[in-house]
Amino acid sequence: MRTALIWDERYKEHDIGKQKYISIDEFEMDSGLAFENPYRLSLAHELLEKTGLLNEMVSYRPDFATDEDLLKVHTTEMVEKVKKASKNKINTEVGEAAVSSPGSYEIALLSAGGAKKAIDVVFEEQDVKQSYALIRPPGHHATRTSPMGFCLFNNVAVAVEYAKEKFGLERILVLDWDVHHGNGTQDIFYQDPSVFFISIHQDKNYPLEGGEITETGELSGKGFNMNIPLIPGCGDQEYIEVIDQVVTPAVNTYKPQLIIVSAGQDANIYDPLSRMMVTREGFKKMTAKVKELAAIHCDSRLVVIQEGGYSLPYFPIATLGVVEGLLEESLSWQAEIEKLLPYSDFRPVIHPILDEIRKVFPTIFKELKV
Ligand SMILES: [Zn+2]
Repeated sequence: MRTALIWDERYKEHDIGKQKYISIDEFEMDSGLAFENPYRLSLAHELLEKTGLLNEMVSYRPDFATDEDLLKVHTTEMVEKVKKASKNKINTEVGEAAVSSPGSYEIALLSAGGAKKAIDVVFEEQDVKQSYALIRPPGHHATRTSPMGFCLFNNVAVAVEYAKEKFGLERILVLDWDVHHGNGTQDIFYQDPSVFFISIHQDKNYPLEGGEITETGELSGKGFNMNIPLIPGCGDQEYIEVIDQVVTPAVNTYKPQLIIVSAGQDANIYDPLSRMMVTREGFKKMTAKVKELAAIHCDSRLVVIQEGGYSLPYFPIATLGVVEGLLEESLSWQAEIEKLLPYSDFRPVIHPILDEIRKVFPTIFKELKV
């Protein structure tokens, strides 16, 4: 079984430069390089190359997605807004914390196209069962009607609709472990039982509203949206506990035909945009667990699509962890920065959150002791 990597140098071309933001006391600050900058992914790709892991994968380049792909999950107004802004010679705000640079529309199409390619290869390429789409701009905050939170279009949502249509899938499970709530993906599939959406996130980080346990879906989508809002300080142990105790029973009940991971590595211990403590080892173990679930339910088909991750030194290392998990490989390589990981015996208490989730999803947890 082989693993595909989808990547394109052109992802660097979406570049909003510096990012100004307003601090709590409304003092305008210049943050320097934007958090979602072109270096994140190119550094990660370079590290995969230098550690030799890239050689063990099959590389693919994406095609551009089309307006038609986007319009399955977004409104015409939204798509036109980004298209128009992208023609400007200066950066243009297109949604809350979402900026288009000149030409960003095309790169966003290439990003969504990367997500589509990640679906194609696991169904059409011989021996390829897993794929990793190393794409940007990210997508999971983009709602049906608006770009948001560094995201222009919702790549995962585009991939889901594409997989449903082209390969006739009826049950897709999206596991979003980006540290921020996957509000956009939730919004798009909130009434859709053919997509079980699970978001593990730091409670009330971004967006400030939503991501509650009680948001479980609407109409026929009721019961197919699971939020797991964690308190700050969670690390490898807590994330594994969440996957074992909550995600695994949900997957086993739903029996998806495909698992897509909305993989933000921003729950990492050095991330500037969260307060979690996951390490490369944690990402490796989480990936290995999801891989086991895909082996049970999805003929081993597993698609990983890049979302956030903003520590320039550690994001590439956390990404290695995900790839090591996919390849069942343990590199002896250890970066200097990893040797400096602070030891902590602090363990946040998460069982009340997990107990609450069990109560809200009685069908999934009926046979489990609380
Ligand atoms: Zn994030």
